[in-house]
Amino acid sequence: MKPAKQLYPLLENPRNIVITMHQKPDGDAMGSALGLYHFLKSIGNTVAVISPTNWAKFLDWMPGCEDVLDYEFHTQNCNQLVNSADMLFCLDFNSMHRTKKMETLLLGVKCVKVLLDHHEQPMEEHFDYGVSDILKSSTCEIVYDFIVRSPFADRLNLVMATCIYTGIMTDTGSFRFPIVKADTHKAVAHLKELGLQHSIIHENIYDNFLENKLRFLGNALLHRLELIYEYNTALMVIPKRDIIKYDIQTGDTEGLVNYLLMMEGIKLGALLIDRNEERKWSFRSKGDFDVNEMARLYFEGGGHKNAAGGRSSASLEENAIRFKEVIKQYEDQLI
Ligand code: 5GP
Ligand code: MN
Repeated sequence: MKPAKQLYPLLENPRNIVITMHQKPDGDAMGSALGLYHFLKSIGNTVAVISPTNWAKFLDWMPGCEDVLDYEFHTQNCNQLVNSADMLFCLDFNSMHRTKKMETLLLGVKCVKVLLDHHEQPMEEHFDYGVSDILKSSTCEIVYDFIVRSPFADRLNLVMATCIYTGIMTDTGSFRFPIVKADTHKAVAHLKELGLQHSIIHENIYDNFLENKLRFLGNALLHRLELIYEYNTALMVIPKRDIIKYDIQTGDTEGLVNYLLMMEGIKLGALLIDRNEERKWSFRSKGDFDVNEMARLYFEGGGHKNAAGGRSSASLEENAIRFKEVIKQYEDQLI
């Protein structure tokens, strides 16, 4: 994989470009895809953004979101777009299986492939160009660098700034995670100079609960949380009946796992949710405990040192039992 800056000369001539991101895109995946979308369009390219699946409603306000195609709903159109693209950008994922049903399509396509990502252990062999930097707060920060270091830096505008800020804010837990650096704040200062309205973005993303979601949260904290004090671990298991009872939609469980680490002394938080197609794990840790490693080894997943995800086709009960066995192997690091 060559450095992304070697791509700039290729951008001088307009092309057909497709941008995609991981399934169930979060603020960073959607923000980086849309920030890059507006930028590449501004320099004359024809650009399509494809999400492998649907996304949370709280992202719909983002400029350009109305143009994003859901692969599961527009499969034929998306296949055509990808197959006729000159260039494909893959944003905010490190392994192709995170694009779900698009995986085979993306692996087979012959155009120039570019990766912009900040997860650990990326599959660089699939890409011609890219940036994979685990020290960056977010893919949005990588997109920001990609734009401002390009010969087209003057195209950066408020619309792009709005998209980019969204992902930096969501992936850094509103600037509180250790990954935030002076560079992150400098980037945001620059975005502010372009007229960024950060408090409106914060409201759009976070202050959007409906009553059912708040009651779901209350129920989860009261009835679905188990504390395993011997291992400084909190485990929350959400059964399908809660999802149905509280009408929980894509994105409604975002942030739930963070409550587990709010407890003093808890080093590892694990959230297990029964989704239609699989059991979905979210892991968060404080300090040195590496959830990326644990998710890779035991839960078909990965991510970052302090935030990772995973999945399983086994039942909720089997997963919870397995998790309690797995943490015993990490006793030294957890107590
Ligand atoms: P979340 O718990 O919010 O779904 O994911 C936490 C972090 O881990 C995010 O950065 C997400 O992109 C990443 N992640 C989630 N699931 C997976 C997975 O299955 N594989 C990899 N490599 N990363 C994941
Ligand atoms: Mn990200």
